Amino acid sequence: MTSLFDLRGKTAVITGANTGIGQGIAVALAEAGANIVAVGRSSMNDTAELIAPHKVTFQAVAADLGSTEPVAHIVSEALKVTGRIDVLVNNAGIIRRADALDFTEADWDAVIDVNLKAAFFLSQATAQSMLTDGRGGKIINIASLLSFQGGIRVASYTASKSGLAGLTKLLACEWAAKGINVNAIAPGYFSTNNTQALREDADRNSAILGRIPAGRWGEPSDIGGAAVFLASRASDYVHGITLPVDGGWLAR
Ligand code: NAP
Repeated sequence: MTSLFDLRGKTAVITGANTGIGQGIAVALAEAGANIVAVGRSSMNDTAELIAPHKVTFQAVAADLGSTEPVAHIVSEALKVTGRIDVLVNNAGIIRRADALDFTEADWDAVIDVNLKAAFFLSQATAQSMLTDGRGGKIINIASLLSFQGGIRVASYTASKSGLAGLTKLLACEWAAKGINVNAIAPGYFSTNNTQALREDADRNSAILGRIPAGRWGEPSDIGGAAVFLASRASDYVHGITLPVDGGWLAR
């Protein structure tokens, strides 16, 4: 019997796959057999090296998701690998920190553009292509604990990630019957570039660690299992959820 989690022959597009959580997801999907299209604005060489042992096709696509301009190009490049996109992971994201009283419009727009607007329009273009042969696919949005909680000093980030959880539900409602599963993963506190400032602040670091039941920060390798689940037929009847992978943070 083939595994419920088998992704051999599938093509997965992952944005922001050069580092951190996106890289962890790309490696896990490749281990399950998926061909990888790694989208981003930085070199994908490290990710290509990590994926090489899995003997899948690897394609890097250079794109800055600060605007929607590269969306059509990303889809057309991804379609060159196997002729269809089976999985899209909207992972690219940024964060800007400032008190709400001082938060600038530039920091608002920059975060919303990458975390929310690019994710929506790339999902739209990918879904259009997934539906041309009627086979559907899987879309996974990388949300956050701030899809559930308020946070502090990250107004546009909280708005974007709460928006992404809502968008995940809306797209699930519109596309579930068409064969596209739209779900999200909410990582807890992961050790990546995104959280470097928090880990370097001794007080914040120990406050965060003290609240995580697992007693440690997440590593990019901790996120892959949830992504493989949501990318595979194991999740065919799962629609619109935001799945926390947080070491138990939300259970506290
Ligand atoms: P990260 O190491 O900073 O990775 C962010 C990724 O997004 C990088 O690949 C980055 O590319 C890419 N990116 C940012 N702006 C982009 C743009 N304009 N165009 C294309 N790519 C762009 O942080 P991470 O923690 O792995 O973050 C990945 C996702 O997880 C983000 O959506 C983040 O909000 C989410 N998340 C992280 C945590 C955590 O604790 N780390 C928790 C919850 C959610 P460059 O390297 O070129 O900048």
